[in-house]
Amino acid sequence: MSSIHFDDLLQARQRIAGLVRQTPLEHSPSLSRLAGVPVWLKLESQQATGSFKLRGASNAVAQLDAERKRLGVVTASTGNHGRALAFAASQQGVKAIVCLSELVPQNKVRAIRELGAEVVISGRSQDDAQLEALRISREQGAAFIPPFDHPHVIAGQGSLGLEILEQCPDVCEVLVPLSGGGLFAGVALAIKASSPAIRTHGISMQRGAAMHASLQAGEPVEVEELSTLADSLGGGIGLENRYTFALTRELCDQLHLLDEASIARGIRHAYREERLVVEGAAAVGIAALLDGLIEPRGPVVVVVSGRNIDIDQHLRVLNGADA
Ligand SMILES: *Cc1c(COP(=O)(O)O)cnc(C)c1O
Repeated sequence: MSSIHFDDLLQARQRIAGLVRQTPLEHSPSLSRLAGVPVWLKLESQQATGSFKLRGASNAVAQLDAERKRLGVVTASTGNHGRALAFAASQQGVKAIVCLSELVPQNKVRAIRELGAEVVISGRSQDDAQLEALRISREQGAAFIPPFDHPHVIAGQGSLGLEILEQCPDVCEVLVPLSGGGLFAGVALAIKASSPAIRTHGISMQRGAAMHASLQAGEPVEVEELSTLADSLGGGIGLENRYTFALTRELCDQLHLLDEASIARGIRHAYREERLVVEGAAAVGIAALLDGLIEPRGPVVVVVSGRNIDIDQHLRVLNGADA
């Protein structure tokens, strides 16, 4: 049923090979002891711009023709996609405009400006920022590159799934942070095409899990956007969702929801045991293992999706705060 094929993932991987890093897969002794099986961390926190989103953004920009490149790109983003698109665009000599809601943390806004993009702040939700980006796209002809619901973005994220299969051929369980579902869809397309028996887990926070609510309802629905430690997982999936809702429904074996205390534990574990600075969204896989939510049948790969946490917030969480 899907309009994105394994071949698209292979081509995306080649297209962006010189633009993104192949990130390391690191063994976690402490999580392996806990889970009773080998646990590996796929460190997209070490991707350029600090998250996996560079993969999808780079692929989307690279697929524009010369005329569209000349008109530039525009997007709305909770931060990491905007940062990735700003970097991908400047790497490829293209102008970028990034629309953000007021809820996006200051460190992310600053980082996007420093990457050379123009930042437009609009409204109090991801949906408001998205409307602004669409308006700019209509009026200036810039290509709108959404954070997740786009075949080129999904195919780019899928390159991460291909790396997992090569780095850990005997993987049994793949744990993926889940928000709009671009990361999940791309990774799961790669995994399931290789072996349907590998189990895919989507992991979200309890506070404002739009994909979970939509899967329950059987169609994309809106949820109230709430502040959460996993701020990169905030925002809706879009009522007009075209790709990621159907792909997630088709390819997700288990979906898990975490409370804030659990996400905080994941961040603390990453720092103390793995020596990693990770943001809340990236800590959910570790947190799900710590909570005993996964019953692994064999080797586990945890996608650690990004590191862009506000440093003061990181210190507060390390000192015991949940939010
Ligand atoms: C965007 C993002 C996610 C979620 O990706 P989706 O494609 O929206 O599901 C997870 N972690 C981090 C760090 C992100 O930036």
